[in-house]
Amino acid sequence: MIGLLIELSYLVAGVCFIVGLKWLSSAETARTGNIVGAAGMFIAVVSTLFHHGILKFEYILAGILIGAAIGAVSALKVAMTAMPQMVAIFNGVGGGASMLVAWAEYLRLAPGTARLDFPISIAFTTVVGAVTLSGSLVAFAKLQELVTGRPVTYRFQQAGNLAVALGILGLCAYLVSQAAPVGPVMGPFYVAMLLSLLLGVLFILPVGGADMPVLIALLNAFSGLAAAGAGFVLHNHVLIVSGALVGSSGIILTQIMCWAMNRRVSNVLFGAFGATVGPIGDAAVTGGRTVKPITANEAAILLAYAKSVIIAPGYGLAVSRAQNEVRKLADVLESRGVDVKYAIHPVAGRMPGHMNVLLAEADVPYDKLLDMDDVNPLLPEADVALVLGANDVVNPAARHDKSSPLYGMPILDVDKAAHTIVMKRSMNPGFAGVDNELFYLDRTRMFFADGRAGLVQILQEIETV
Ligand code: NDP
Repeated sequence: MIGLLIELSYLVAGVCFIVGLKWLSSAETARTGNIVGAAGMFIAVVSTLFHHGILKFEYILAGILIGAAIGAVSALKVAMTAMPQMVAIFNGVGGGASMLVAWAEYLRLAPGTARLDFPISIAFTTVVGAVTLSGSLVAFAKLQELVTGRPVTYRFQQAGNLAVALGILGLCAYLVSQAAPVGPVMGPFYVAMLLSLLLGVLFILPVGGADMPVLIALLNAFSGLAAAGAGFVLHNHVLIVSGALVGSSGIILTQIMCWAMNRRVSNVLFGAFGATVGPIGDAAVTGGRTVKPITANEAAILLAYAKSVIIAPGYGLAVSRAQNEVRKLADVLESRGVDVKYAIHPVAGRMPGHMNVLLAEADVPYDKLLDMDDVNPLLPEADVALVLGANDVVNPAARHDKSSPLYGMPILDVDKAAHTIVMKRSMNPGFAGVDNELFYLDRTRMFFADGRAGLVQILQEIETV
């Protein structure tokens, strides 16, 4: 009877996960989706505690308390700009937990069972969990700038990685073949686990810091696959369902991000994008062409007397943490009758939804945030497009320059507005490392300033115009 009730509550939990995921796909319903998903997880955890295999609760309780305390403190403390790192750690611990489950179950493996699915699940979970754990830790270190964010490449890198992967595969085949006649063979198991941890590190090294969010989405998928594997190891249905959901949504997200950047997953993983970009000085970038600067006062006048202003935020907005100042500027402009909207590119910033999260933090109403497809038709009608710390996602070369690495990436058409103001600190390029022809257009004015400081200056000037 208890078993049936547990399975039924797993079903309810599974439905909560699916509904929660669906609601997470829209900004308005995301909070409810989060709560529904968390409720599903609560139901799953509590029902599992009734499992007859659990004899002692002390360790579980201690684990829950420690985990909840760490989770709550980090959720409250972490800055919005540090979200990718936080997700990296979450993926890592998820993968690590699955690895530990598989390890513990392997120790208990009894020789003599003819079924192959059990040792195969153990091998799969250990390898994927270990790759996720070490890979996510390196991703965290790159994003936190504890190690270089540049792609690390060396001779025979891919061949070396392939050799490690084949070694792991061979060891796993050996472990599976020995499961029935011998039982656990710990030596080869530990070697396979260590090699998998090594592979996680090697796999991440050639990926550039700014590509890391794509990789984090992929590692997220891996952590889901590892959890699903652990579900097979433990014969736990809710773990299989939740792992599969995380795995598939992670893969879809990875794909969506690659489409939005006009790159292939293989190019992100093996292309070492950004490895060749050296320091670029102003003269080198401008190549003799001139840009037209604008002062805070002139920008304030242009904005204050516009009918419609479309703000295109990018990575620089997150770096300068200027979300509240943007909101203040929008409030001031709206109080003067200006129509203000935000143009959100799917890969603006360094993680999916980066700009939405950042602006939501400053209480910018959701209905003011327009996706690229919705805002592009409005840009030719706008009086001013204000580009705040965005670069690649507004580079017109993506539309026509076949030699540009950005060619084919859909962009925000800010160059079509009557006036374009670009606020950034210098002529330095963005993530793709390429010059931006937007800066040299007749209708573009450059406001060289840190995002937040520049907005504060404009806000002061607007009082006087
Ligand atoms: P970019 O990286 O193209 O450009 C950001 C610009 O912000 C830089 O040119 C920089 O110029 C400026 N900047 C940096 N710090 C500040 C500051 N404190 N104040 C003002 N400006 C600042 O960013 P975009 O958002 O336009 O494009 C995102 C890029 O990242 C795309 O190429 C995308 O493919 C890539 N990417 C995005 C992912 C995502 O999920 N969103 C994932 C992986 C990659 P300066 O130094 O002169 O100030």
